[in-house]
Amino acid sequence: MGKTLKAIAVRPAQRTVELIEHPDPTIETATQARLRVLEVGVCGTDREICNFDYGTPPPGSDHLVIGHESLTEVVEVGPGVTSVQPGELVVPTVRRPCPHAHCWPCRSGRPDFCRTGDIRERGIKEAHGYMTEYVVEEEQYLNPVPRDLREVAALVEPLTIAEKSLLELFDLQERLPWACPHAEAEGPGHCHKALVLGAGPVGLLGAMALVVRGFETFVFSRDPGTSPKAGIARGFGAKYVSAATDPLETLRGTIGPFDVIYEAAGSSRLAFDSLSTLGPNGVAILTGVPGLHAGSQVDTDRVMRNLVLLNQIVLGTVNAGRDGFGAAIADLAEFKRRWPAALSGLISGRHPIESFRELLLGQPGGIKNLISFEGRK
Ligand code: BGC
Repeated sequence: MGKTLKAIAVRPAQRTVELIEHPDPTIETATQARLRVLEVGVCGTDREICNFDYGTPPPGSDHLVIGHESLTEVVEVGPGVTSVQPGELVVPTVRRPCPHAHCWPCRSGRPDFCRTGDIRERGIKEAHGYMTEYVVEEEQYLNPVPRDLREVAALVEPLTIAEKSLLELFDLQERLPWACPHAEAEGPGHCHKALVLGAGPVGLLGAMALVVRGFETFVFSRDPGTSPKAGIARGFGAKYVSAATDPLETLRGTIGPFDVIYEAAGSSRLAFDSLSTLGPNGVAILTGVPGLHAGSQVDTDRVMRNLVLLNQIVLGTVNAGRDGFGAAIADLAEFKRRWPAALSGLISGRHPIESFRELLLGQPGGIKNLISFEGRK
């Protein structure tokens, strides 16, 4: 075997999570770049993969190198690469298109809307991920990030989930010709009220994006109002609502109804219960991927009645396209300009790769934990 690198991988058949030696990849086409991994975020999806609820190794491999929320630096480029150069910071996209000629989303460069399900996702499904020292990637999947976002750029990928959903939201609400197109100019609360479910990274980043767009934004979570998450939410101008003191059922009457619900808690029960707080012409965006357990009972008559009589939309959304990555990088710069402390407060810690067990299998706490590969040769 040639040179090897350290990598964090799961072996589903053996049900193990290990630090392994992984082949050092080399550039094989003119349009590839070799990337040094700086840091990789740990998210709920990684923890589910390590719990063997999700995730599939590449065909022919007994293991999957995990990690999809990466920040990398270009170290070498093939002769045909024109848009990135060595020394630049880049965040690669996660999803790769399916091979089928008839899948027009994939053939149009939008695998995030794939119709066949035969996509691959780096670090998740049938493609190795970024929790290793070096990776090789095609130029078309790289998103350059300005140097001054170095400290927070590992948040780009989780933020793309929110950005895609907001791009979709604004497209959908074009159906309301009177809706305020420039909410910010009118002042917060003038046009739209948003309820964010969950105060994890995808929830808080989504809430920041909603505040930037002028929404009066309420973050609803289990944690008490004195928790660090609550402080961060207030720090960027959202209002924090703790489930401990304000149950969901009361919100419609006290601060609702909401024009937008943005779900980032992964609980199907909470998501469907929250529909009772959705207002006329409202959109409920669902981003969490719940485990397939027994589910819970929903009053389907009430849900359907409201959907119809109030012109409501329930939108499921996954992954993101290049436009979502572009919007995330632009928004991160704006978040940093407006709320530097709240933004950096989302990153709870940078940890050496040797801490992988505690981060992936334990209860590390905090908001976004990163595994740092920087400094390794
Ligand atoms: C990732 C997405 C991915 C989704 C489903 C999320 O954690 O951020 O890129 O599409 O999981 O696998």
